[in-house]
Amino acid sequence: MAKENSIVSLLREDLSDLKPYQSARRIGGKGKIFINANESPFANVDLGAVNFDTINRYPEQQPERLVEAYANYANVEPQNVVCTRGADEAIELLIRTFCNVGKDSISYFAPSYGMYQISAKTCGIRSIQVPFNDDYTLPSDWSNTEKSKLTFICNPNNPTGTIITPSDIKAVLNRTPFGLVVVDEAYIDFSIENTVTDLVKEYPNLVVLRTLSKAFALAGLRCGFLISSPQVTQQVLKVLAPYPVSVPVEQIATQALSSTGITLMKQQRQLIEQNRQLLMDALIGIAQKVLPSASNFVYAEFDDADAIWSELVDQEIIARRYVVEKLKNGIRFTIGSTAENYTLINLFNNIKQLKDEQ
Ligand SMILES: *Cc1c(COP(=O)(O)O)cnc(C)c1O
Repeated sequence: MAKENSIVSLLREDLSDLKPYQSARRIGGKGKIFINANESPFANVDLGAVNFDTINRYPEQQPERLVEAYANYANVEPQNVVCTRGADEAIELLIRTFCNVGKDSISYFAPSYGMYQISAKTCGIRSIQVPFNDDYTLPSDWSNTEKSKLTFICNPNNPTGTIITPSDIKAVLNRTPFGLVVVDEAYIDFSIENTVTDLVKEYPNLVVLRTLSKAFALAGLRCGFLISSPQVTQQVLKVLAPYPVSVPVEQIATQALSSTGITLMKQQRQLIEQNRQLLMDALIGIAQKVLPSASNFVYAEFDDADAIWSELVDQEIIARRYVVEKLKNGIRFTIGSTAENYTLINLFNNIKQLKDEQ
């Protein structure tokens, strides 16, 4: 039997310093209120609608009903849609489909979602960070001089919650004739007027990523979508696993995209937006800076983020912090249930009161 350390020595050399993504369930720890992973506080599934009669059979690679339902929701054609195991799989799928190991790179506007870099690294691909302007808009003079195969733009951006206008994205498309521009719209259901799915017809090198994990409240289901030109979708379907979408996933996701499901999502979105405003109001006078949010979370910066963080930990409230320099004073708060939101608001009000009394 090989000893454990000899197994470690078998690891790919380029992964020896790999730090895994701080996922919602990986961090563990003591907590009562989990507002660290931008999950929805609602649990919508009607199990009566799930039918297991065909569970002995492999599903289609791309379940037709589900692809049609999402195409319908996103206002595109079914040939533009690929269903994946979450948007995370779509990120990796694009890298595996288009990037040559040891040769190609990806670029992304930063600070942003951590999985672009991790996925690239695990595929042996270099990643290049392009800094946002100070207000988290896109630098107007940027062009793809590195000739990256993929350029990721997260919109609304995670973790800042800020929006990049479709016209700024169009400008990048016009200045990036080499490679694909990938717009990660994981939170766009909270800001649907800023989607760029309508540009897919005009720009065959545009890819849009979507998910049911956020506004649709199905993070546990693992269902996401890639929207692009047929030229792109035909290539990624060659690389995608033969049966990525299980029978129960297809059924629950299709149910979520029915007109009843979409109406429910919109009602829940409204509640989340109301609670988001209450939280932002409560942060005034305690945070140094609260960024505008077009999503289901709020990013705020504090004079003493460590002190605020320990108050949160004392109350077993798990929010999200960052190690990168640009975000070191920031904390991201997912909008949880109304009760969770009030617990957070009360905590901030108490801290403010103590401050005023000093
Ligand atoms: C949550 C998130 C994802 C991953 O979504 P899944 O569909 O759950 O894999 C992708 N991109 C961003 C920006 C996210 O915040």
